[in-house]
Amino acid sequence: QELPADPSTANTRRQVEKACFSYVTPRIPSAPSLLQVSNEMAETLGLSQEDIKSKAFLDMVTGAHVQEGTAPYAMCYGGHQFGHWAGQLGDGRAINLAEITHQNKRWAIQLKGAGETPYSRTADGLAVLRSSIREHLCSEAMYHLGVPTTRSLSLSLSGDQVLRDVMYDGNAAYERGAIVCRVAPSFIRFGNFEIFASRQDTETLKTLTDYTIKHFYPQYEGGTKEGYLGFFNEIVQNTLEMIIHWQRVGFVHGVMNTDNMSILGLTIDYGPYGWLEAYEPGWTPNTTDRQNKRYRFGNQPQIALWNLLQLANALYPLIGETEPLEAILQSYHTEYPKKYIAMMREKLGLQMAEESDIQLIADLEKNLQASETDMTIFFRNLSLVSKNITTSWEDAFYAFAKAAFYKPEEISKTIYSHWETWFQNYIKRLSRETLTDAERKVQMNKVNPKYVLRNYIAQLVIDAADKGDYKLLDEIHTLLKNPYDEQPKYERWFAKRPEWARHKVGCSM
Ligand code: AMP
Ligand code: MG
Ligand code: MG
Repeated sequence: QELPADPSTANTRRQVEKACFSYVTPRIPSAPSLLQVSNEMAETLGLSQEDIKSKAFLDMVTGAHVQEGTAPYAMCYGGHQFGHWAGQLGDGRAINLAEITHQNKRWAIQLKGAGETPYSRTADGLAVLRSSIREHLCSEAMYHLGVPTTRSLSLSLSGDQVLRDVMYDGNAAYERGAIVCRVAPSFIRFGNFEIFASRQDTETLKTLTDYTIKHFYPQYEGGTKEGYLGFFNEIVQNTLEMIIHWQRVGFVHGVMNTDNMSILGLTIDYGPYGWLEAYEPGWTPNTTDRQNKRYRFGNQPQIALWNLLQLANALYPLIGETEPLEAILQSYHTEYPKKYIAMMREKLGLQMAEESDIQLIADLEKNLQASETDMTIFFRNLSLVSKNITTSWEDAFYAFAKAAFYKPEEISKTIYSHWETWFQNYIKRLSRETLTDAERKVQMNKVNPKYVLRNYIAQLVIDAADKGDYKLLDEIHTLLKNPYDEQPKYERWFAKRPEWARHKVGCSM
């Protein structure tokens, strides 16, 4: 096959210089089949029920057929992985198919797992069913939780077999190949800018930055220093908002490398992520990060700031001054704690802001951790508390909290007394609020989800799917569309992680 004469579009695996992307062709799947479509996402793109049942749709979301007039491509980016510059990375298994504009909104359509690209390095460009289920379900769950995220339009099987070293037993085995069709306004990451800065290719850096501003931050168009600073400032704010949401729902990304940080502040790259079950700031779902725990729950706000610093460095050549960039980074540093406290107030059902809330929240975090407490259940049940306790504090406390403790019988007298203090302070604090118990409950239930994609639930879906049973996939997909609602028929998913799942988390490859 003839290679394109232009070296920026040559399709071999290599260092791609002076180019933002390379044209590629998705691999043709041998027996593509759809497992699930996100109907709301399809609607948002202007696709009807009829459309999604068509062969053309299946062809699109599995890469079986490339639409005429489109030119699929893989992006070039670099990144800092686990704190170290890793050089060129790029879309190794993601292929941008096209963009769809519907109701004045622009959406990039991307296949994940549709074969090799110039950026595949030593890997195959494919994805397996288990990791694709995790990405598909979690990105949709996050969307319905109100967390900024890339979306998943569909999950399909390619019909091909993919060789993988299954992490938990170390043996290579064939698994079923799958393809997720991802959707986002853009998949541009911090790493897209870093690669050009590292190569001192200011010209391409400027081209990419101006393009990104024009389409996604148009208020900063013009190519001025002020415009670039405004652009950076907005990214900092968007990233901060995203992190606050992660901390609110107990999501741990697991691999916050700069190539996995969206320029739009969207959660991107659902690999080794996990959900807090017991509230534990030191927890990471990423088994390759168990030593340093760089990407642990409690470190996410710091890491986001560190990643933003790398982006500031990458944009510096367009700005030429460090002070204004530092000032913007400093604003994250000062704003984050304020926004975090405001978010926690909402979780606690507090509408007024009192100075002492900071201590109340800090004490709560200590207690949650000390008594191995399920985060989701605790906050959800907290809305059941009445500010006019009529029973003993123990009865009132245990009525809502016991269900959240993993080992209630092992909670020591000391910790129990800390809970008593905290609970009494909380009730006093509630009594200074104006909302009634019923009104407060409504407010709290809007920010404290009842259902999240617990690690073991994702695993159960995967285990069933491995046996060819997709009923649970449908059930969980449906359940997580309304994470804040009471759904009596799904009450069994409002439950602590079972003991068998204590040390298990899914893997990402
Ligand atoms: P991640 O850790 O998922 O952010 O991936 C880091 C880099 O490895 C990115 O450039 C990915 O595109 C690439 N990569 C991950 N998995 C594969 C795969 N199966 N085939 C090719 N490239 C991959
Ligand atoms: Mg990635
Ligand atoms: Mg990944």
